[in-house]
Order: sequence, then structure tokens, then C-alpha cells
Amino acid sequence: MTPDDIAFDQRHIWHPYTSMSAPLPVYPVNGALGCELHLASGERLVDGMSSWWAAIHGYNHPRLNAALKNQIDAVSHVMFGGITHPAAVALCRKLVAMTPQALECVFLADSGSVAVEVAMKMALQYWQAKGEPRQRFLTFRNGYHGDTFGAMSVCDPDNSMHSLWKGYLPENLFAPAPQSRFDGEWDERDLAPFARLLAAHRHEIAAVILEPVVQGAGGMRIYHPTWLKRIRKMCDREGILLIADEIATGFGRTGKLFACEHAEIAPDILCLGKALTGGAMTLSATLTTRDIAETISNGEAGCFMHGPTFMGNPLACAVAAESLALLEEGEWQTQVAAIEQQLRDQLAPCREAPLVADVRVLGAIGVVETRHPVDMAALQRFFVGKGVWIRPFGKLIYLMPPYIITPEQLAKLTQAVREAVKNPLFFRT
Ligand code: PMP
Repeated sequence: MTPDDIAFDQRHIWHPYTSMSAPLPVYPVNGALGCELHLASGERLVDGMSSWWAAIHGYNHPRLNAALKNQIDAVSHVMFGGITHPAAVALCRKLVAMTPQALECVFLADSGSVAVEVAMKMALQYWQAKGEPRQRFLTFRNGYHGDTFGAMSVCDPDNSMHSLWKGYLPENLFAPAPQSRFDGEWDERDLAPFARLLAAHRHEIAAVILEPVVQGAGGMRIYHPTWLKRIRKMCDREGILLIADEIATGFGRTGKLFACEHAEIAPDILCLGKALTGGAMTLSATLTTRDIAETISNGEAGCFMHGPTFMGNPLACAVAAESLALLEEGEWQTQVAAIEQQLRDQLAPCREAPLVADVRVLGAIGVVETRHPVDMAALQRFFVGKGVWIRPFGKLIYLMPPYIITPEQLAKLTQAVREAVKNPLFFRT
């Protein structure tokens, strides 16, 4: 890429959560292999982000590439209305088999946010069909579920700036974020405000929606699985649906295939995305019980009112089916366990740094929470100089590398983080 290309990019192309008038620098990547990103400058960076939880098997994986190439030669895309194809069937067979038994019906869509929209819309249509319309959702503060309007309405009201959309955004119910930590004691008092909200609004609440065990972009908080057991019980008692957003946590990231397994519970609706395709394509899946699917289908509309153009895109389905085949082989379990141990050992010294507020690790997720927000541009430059790709935000420097990362590569990432948190120049103190 030429300097002119970069100038064009900065002038004309939006990047995620980035100002168009004062854009942050962008680093041109012209290739990636295994656990490394190849910059146009020739530098190679060890990837600590898995492209936001997605590239769990690393980049340019020969089996994922072969699945894509084979599918291209058959058909890249065909409409899903009135048509099906082997890639969708193969993928959905695997999804139904690997998720909790009660989840039988799969809705394929384009992205995580749309999976959440679909889940919420399903919950609304479910109650509509039962002749008992309910239109509110109960969730935690510090959650993140996506950037479309329905999803935003259940994101943390402060982080996602609900004030900007007042009057337009549905007003949902927010309980305080869980306080009992994953690796700490369960504190029964944690539950009270949530239980109160649920009881007070039990005839209005269509569903509880949450990110099981790990709250991702809303704060990288890791909470006690007993929360899920208790919420499952409360929802059962009141007949309220439970939506688990496993878009970030799904497919092994937390050490279990799905984070709900930490509490041995099953949701009524499950949202999957990100790592579903091993990070190769955009695709999401929303799974429900047959009861939910049939109740919706027997309602006034006679169907679920959703049908995206690229629903069940064959390329995305083919690569997703191959990514799941890789997971089925089971190596991820030892890989994630080894990453967890190394993250625990090598991030622990960060706790000594005065600029660090907390260190938390679960599965292949390592989080260092700092006392002050990071200077993103300065810290990013430092990391690139160290040969690593780590993208911090707010007060969070976190690692979630591809499962195939080697101990040497991971050591490079953790060392860069340990050095960064010693330097006040990288923080807005
Ligand atoms: N839910 C969760 C838990 C997520 O982490 C994300 C993405 N960060 C989304 C939903 C939205 O997914 P997407 O960005 O693919 O729309």
C-alpha cells in the first residue's frame, strides 16, 4: 500500500469506533499466517486479538482455505428462500449436535449483532404468539451485545451512550453488573437487585439476555457461574426466556466449548458468531428450542419475521462447518488450558505495577485492567514496535490469542503487556 492509499483510507473510510475528523493511525496488513499478521512494511506481529475473538485456528489455515476454495467452485452464494444447500445442512447438523440438547432449530444470519436482533425478535414474537405480549428485556450493566438498535438497547447504558438515542431506543431493565468473581466466593447478596427487578417486572419481561461468565466489550469482567444457575432457576419459575449471547465466549474461548457449561445450564435461545467460521467469514447462528420455534410459527404471522439476503451464505457455512470439524478433533482443550496457565503465570507480575487495578484470566482470555484509560495511539505504536498486535481500549489491555499460539509467541505478548503497564506515558493519568 502506498502513502496515498493510507491517506485515502484516513480521509474516506470509517473504522470501528474511530473519528473521521481525527482518525487514529491504521496499520496496513497485507497477509497473515498462523498466529502472525504481516504488515505491508515487512514487519510481522504476533496476534494477541484473534481479530476480536474470531480467528481461533489462526490465519490462512489450510483446511479452512480448502473448504472455502471447494465451496467457491460449487457456489459462493445462493438465496436461502426456497433453497437449501449441503454446506448449511452440514453446519447446522454440527451446531445442533454440539450445543445443549434442547436447542434444535437454527437461524443463520450475517453477524453477531443480527444474531442478537434475531434472538430478541424471537422472544417478542414468542410472547406475542402466546397471546401475552411482553416487550422488555432484563440484563446486566456492563454488557455488550452489538451495535444495532435492539442489541444496543441491552448494552451497558453508559458505555454505549444510551443518552444519544433517548426516545428512540427501547428502555430495558438493567441490574447491577455481577460482583462475585469467577475465581472468588459466591456472594448471595449479589443476586438481590437482579431478583428484585425480575420479580417487579415479571409479567413484562420477554427474556433475560446475558453474556455467560465473561462480559466482553462492556468491561472484560469474569463472573461467578452460580449467577447462571440462579438466573436459570428464576427464569424457569417465571416462564421467562433466557438468551445466552455466546458470540464472544462460544467455541472454547473460556476453557469450555460454551461458557454456559461452567454452570451446566442451557439457555432457551443461544447466539453464536465470531469464531463460528474460525474468523474467515462473517456468519452468526441463533439456536432455539423446538417449542419456541413452533410457538412463533403457530402465531399470527405464521413464521418468524426475518430473512436476510445473505442468510445461510454457502461460503460462510462451508468454512464454519470445517472450523467446527477442527474443534471436534478436540485439540483446542489442551491448547486453551496451556494458554490459560501461561497467561496466569506471566500476567501475574502486572499486579505489582501501580498503574494496574486488576488482572483476570479465564481460558484463553487474559485481562489487565489499568487505573487510567490508555493512550490508544501511543500504546499501539509501542506494541507494534515490540512485534505484537494488541488493541487495548478504555482501561483494558487484554489478550485473546488464536488457540494455536506457541508458548514463545505468547511470551512475547505477555512481556509486551508487562512492559507497557510500567510506563505512565501510555496512560491518560
Ligand atoms: N455480542 C457479543 C457478546 C459480542 O462480543 C459482539 C461483538 N463484539 C456482538 C454481540 C456483536 O457481534 P458483531 O460485531 O459480529 O455484530
